[in-house]
Amino acid sequence: MSCGGGEDPQPVARCFLCESTADSAPAGHTDPDSGPKTPTMSDCPPQTPLFSFGVIADIQYADIDDGFNYTRSHRRYYRSSLQLLGNAQKGWCESAVRPDFILQLGDIIDGFNKRHGASERALDSVLTELSCCPVEVHHVWGNHEFYNFSRSELLRSKLNSTPKTEPGSSPNRPPAPADCYAYRFSPFPGFSFVVLDAYDVSLLGRDTSSEQYGNALNLIRQHNNNEDLNCPPVPEGLGQRFTMFNGGFSKGQLDWLDSVLSSADDKHERVTIVSHLPVHPNSTTAMCLAWNFDELLSIIRSHSSVVCYMAGHDHDGGYCQDKDTGVHYLTLEGVIETPPDSDAFGTVSVYEDRMVLKGNGRIKDRVFLFAGCQSDNKQSDTCCS
Ligand SMILES: [Zn+2]
Repeated sequence: MSCGGGEDPQPVARCFLCESTADSAPAGHTDPDSGPKTPTMSDCPPQTPLFSFGVIADIQYADIDDGFNYTRSHRRYYRSSLQLLGNAQKGWCESAVRPDFILQLGDIIDGFNKRHGASERALDSVLTELSCCPVEVHHVWGNHEFYNFSRSELLRSKLNSTPKTEPGSSPNRPPAPADCYAYRFSPFPGFSFVVLDAYDVSLLGRDTSSEQYGNALNLIRQHNNNEDLNCPPVPEGLGQRFTMFNGGFSKGQLDWLDSVLSSADDKHERVTIVSHLPVHPNSTTAMCLAWNFDELLSIIRSHSSVVCYMAGHDHDGGYCQDKDTGVHYLTLEGVIETPPDSDAFGTVSVYEDRMVLKGNGRIKDRVFLFAGCQSDNKQSDTCCS
C-alpha cells in the first residue's frame, strides 16, 4: 500500500498559535517585545515540546462505495478514508518533529466489512498504511472493532497495543476483569496516558451466553424498550445514550483507574485519558455518550492529575473545558465523514504547562492549558460546568 497521497507538505517548524514559520526550533520566538502584536508572543510556548503525538479517529475503512449514516444526514466516504489515513501518515512523517506515538481512537474499520467477509483484509489495509510511518500506535477499541471481531480475537490481534510490563514493575492494566482492554503508559517522565475500554460493559464482542452479556442486556433493558436496541429510547436528552452501539466501564476498570489516578496525583503527573466514547455531555451529542459517563466524570473530578480526555465516536467532534477542574474534553472529528479533499488528523505538542493541538482539515487548532498554569491566553472555546 502506498504511503503517499497527501497534497501539501507540512511547513517547517511553526508556532501553531502564531501561525508564523521559524527556521530552526518549533519555538523560534525569542523577543516578546518586537513586531506586530497580533497575537501576542506570550501565546507562544517558549520552548520546544517535551514530546508530541498524533491523533486520528473513526477511520472506518471499507472497500465499498460512499454511503450515509443512519439518519442519512451525513455522507460516509468508506473507500477514501484510507487515502485520508495516508495523508495523516505523510503529515506526521514529514513534520519537522515526528510524533513520538499515534493515538488511534477507535473504529479503525467499518462494520460493513464483516458482511462482506472482508474484516481481515480491511484491517490489513489500514495497518499497512499505518506502518508507513515507523511510529508506535496505541489503538483504542470502538463499536466497529466489535462488529468485525470478538473480544478474544481483538485481544490476540495487532489492535491490542498493551505494552509489555517490565518484571517487578507496578501493574499497568486492571487486575479484573481479565479481558478488559485498558492500560496505562508513560511516554515521558511526569506524563501518563490511560487507554480505557468503553465496551467493557456491552452487548458487543461478548458471547450471548456469557454472564457479561446478560448483565449488559439487563442494564440496557432498564432504559430501552425498543425491539431494535440500536434505536435510542427517547428522542432527546441524556437517556439517548442507552443504545447497543454504546457501552460502559465496569466497576473493576473504574476502581483500577481510580488507583492509577491516586498514584499520579501523589507524583504530580499529568494524565490524559483516551477512549472511544465521550464522557462529558458538553463535548458530544447525548446519543454518543458512554452509558455510565457520570461515574467516570466523578472519578476524574476527584483527582488533580487529569488534564485531558480524548474520544472519537461522534463524527461531528466536540470540545469543552470543565470550568471547575480545568480538564479538557475533546471529541475528535471522524475521518469517515470527512470529504476526500479535506483531512481529519492532528498533532499534539506537549509542554510543561499545556498541550497544543495542531489540526488538519476538519480538526481545529486548540490549546489545552493545564489547570493551575497561568497564561495570558484567551481560551476562546466553550467552558462547561
Ligand atoms: Zn464508534
